[in-house]
Amino acid sequence: MHLARLAHSGPGAAQLSAAQWTALRYFARANRFSRTPSAFSEFHATTRGTASQTVKSLVSMGFLERRSNEADGRSALIEVTDAGHAMLAQDPLADLRRALAEQPAEVRAALMKHLRAATETLAEQRSARTFGRCDECSHCAPRDTGAYCHCTQAMLRAEEMGALCIDFTPKLRSTG
Ligand code: SF4
Repeated sequence: MHLARLAHSGPGAAQLSAAQWTALRYFARANRFSRTPSAFSEFHATTRGTASQTVKSLVSMGFLERRSNEADGRSALIEVTDAGHAMLAQDPLADLRRALAEQPAEVRAALMKHLRAATETLAEQRSARTFGRCDECSHCAPRDTGAYCHCTQAMLRAEEMGALCIDFTPKLRSTG
């Protein structure tokens, strides 16, 4: 908790609430199947109403915008605007990212592995989803020009492989 509070206390933090910062980061990192208010509500472990209010506030500030969703006419896709990307350049978490980047590679790899395992365990206990990336997902089948997703039944471009996805299903964890 102390680390989280420190990370959020840097310059620029006061420009948005913690929930607004999380939403802005989320929509900048989420893939086209996950850039919806309801997916954000699951990522942020909050109600859809609360998530919608956070998204609405960022839309009214000009940091997010709604675009039509070609895959689902009933919902809109949320995109980060140029002003939103400019705000993200002042993200208070950048100091934490730099502090972690200074750690040896094996320490960072071990931290990632154990945090991921703890997240999966907690998500299972809460019956919640685990968000993750295509290149670590059991639905992903590599192809020459990217990959095929067996869950969404869509081709994935190479540049989409590192984005966050609500439909992510982790590959079986190694016991070694
Ligand atoms: S492969 Fe997995 S992470 Fe990627 S789009 Fe499909 S379900 Fe989502």
